[in-house]
Amino acid sequence: MKKALVTGASRGIGEAIARALSKDGFKVFINYRNSDDRAQALADEIGAYAIKADVSDYEQVLSMYDEIGDINVLVCNAGISEYGLFSETSPEIWRRVFAVNVDGTYNCIQCALPSMIREKSGSIITMSSVWGIHGASCEAAYSASKAAVIGLTKALSKELGPSGIRVNCIAPGVIETDMMSGFSDEDKARLCEETPLCRLGKPSDVAELAAFLASEKSRFITGQVFGVDGGFAL
Ligand code: NAP
Repeated sequence: MKKALVTGASRGIGEAIARALSKDGFKVFINYRNSDDRAQALADEIGAYAIKADVSDYEQVLSMYDEIGDINVLVCNAGISEYGLFSETSPEIWRRVFAVNVDGTYNCIQCALPSMIREKSGSIITMSSVWGIHGASCEAAYSASKAAVIGLTKALSKELGPSGIRVNCIAPGVIETDMMSGFSDEDKARLCEETPLCRLGKPSDVAELAAFLASEKSRFITGQVFGVDGGFAL
């Protein structure tokens, strides 16, 4: 049975990806940072394994891999956002966003690679954002961190392709999860109006693409950035 690790899978997009991969027959590991009960309940429901680790902490990531062993698919989904003027973005906020979104991606890929290289096989999926491509006012740290994820994805796809490892990136638009809790109903209505497909995204909209990228169906696809945004970024 192939093994998949999904980071930040206790809720939101990661949860939907864990569900989709489990349905596709993967043995799924649900990484999370705080939500013990939610992660365990999801694991029990879909027959997966909950594993707690802060992805921004390299030692914790190493210990997580000690527990789960080699994996075939890695989905680097864990991420945080911060909203505010750049002039009011403290060094601590800047570092926190980069620690989770960029260092977290680095840590999880770094630890997954030895066995993938040995096996000459693997699919790595990173999670950027529409803002990592276009930039968002009042989300400079988040936008910069998500742009870094795209650079990492493209570089690694070239470096790891000869080892049989594919690396692709998903750039969601506005997806209804806890990350959107700061948005009012009016904000959401305005975002729907700006979206050609006239609605916000659902976690499952992203999960179905992730499942495809995890599967052999995408065997000749690497180094790509896929928007899942209902046309929002056009
Ligand atoms: P969410 O609902 O806020 O869930 C975040 C998940 O990440 C939770 O499972 C959380 O675990 C976990 N997490 C946060 N920091 C972590 C850390 N240091 N170590 C391990 N796990 C950590 O987020 P989401 O909306 O599903 O977003 C998932 C990804 O998609 C993120 O990378 C985000 O930037 C990206 N994205 C989201 C949207 C959107 O509109 N929602 C748009 C574009 C991109 P706990 O439950 O334990 O806290």
